[in-house]
Amino acid sequence: MAEFRNTFAGNPLDRVAAQRRDEEWIRERLADPSTQLLPLHRLSLPFVEREGLARLAWAPVSDLEDADAESFPVLLGVEDEAARFAINVSGVDDPLAVLDLPAGSVFRDLRELSGTLEADDAGIAAQARSLVDWHARHRHCAVCGEHTEPVQGGISRKCVVCPAEHFPRTDPVVITVVHEGERCLLGRQASWPAGMFSALAGFIDHGESIEDAVRREVGEEAGIAVREIRYHSSQPWPFPASLMIGCHALAETSAIDFDEFEMDDVRWFTRAEVLEALAGPAASIVGDPARGGALSLPGPTAIAHTLVRAWADAAP
Ligand SMILES: [Zn+2]
Repeated sequence: MAEFRNTFAGNPLDRVAAQRRDEEWIRERLADPSTQLLPLHRLSLPFVEREGLARLAWAPVSDLEDADAESFPVLLGVEDEAARFAINVSGVDDPLAVLDLPAGSVFRDLRELSGTLEADDAGIAAQARSLVDWHARHRHCAVCGEHTEPVQGGISRKCVVCPAEHFPRTDPVVITVVHEGERCLLGRQASWPAGMFSALAGFIDHGESIEDAVRREVGEEAGIAVREIRYHSSQPWPFPASLMIGCHALAETSAIDFDEFEMDDVRWFTRAEVLEALAGPAASIVGDPARGGALSLPGPTAIAHTLVRAWADAAP
């Protein structure tokens, strides 16, 4: 099976697991002029347009003094022997006035730009957004309630009182295109634009395998039993810290009985309907209201698009 690189996958940075244990090495990187900073302002990231693509805009390490950083710099990794850190500058009103970013830089929410982001930068942006958000929300120990402090360049946080060490968590989500001959099963939520349907998805519970979660979610959301669950590809989803695990599954039953609390509608769509929707105007990640009642699918940024396309393009 071909390997797909979904948006936000393929982060090129070396996360330097060994070096980051050395506090002195980290201090040296923060004094090295080749080091670059990625400032996050209330979870927006700085971008600059280059050759039609949105590229991350980096600030020089000397900006640390002016950034009024709310937290210490988080080491993302190393590329071309230069260290890259993310910093949280949410305490500054106008980061563009304070930081020495490239001309034309703007702060944007990652969701707005993911369709035009350069692929490597998308991976770095996902890592930075999830990690900076995690640090901001884990300043106290979940065991004893005291303060925590970052260690190893921010790979984890340690309680200042008890022995607890806290690590960033990733929330696994299964997302599945269920198929049966020439048709596939898609669902929609009430908040989505008219006509938009997508693959069925849900968080994996404790004590569940990927296959268990696919069977449960498809059962809960559509009332359909499945077998032959096949992994396709995965996607980091940094809103705030999920990992989308993309699967295909064969339907064992065909009568839909969907959960009206979770879903607005669940339907079978023919391969022809799906191919027509894929060939239509590129829908944004939240669908395209202009397409009205016609089937509209998530855009190429979403793994749901990858999964639907892989099924639709496969020989029957
Ligand atoms: Zn503690």
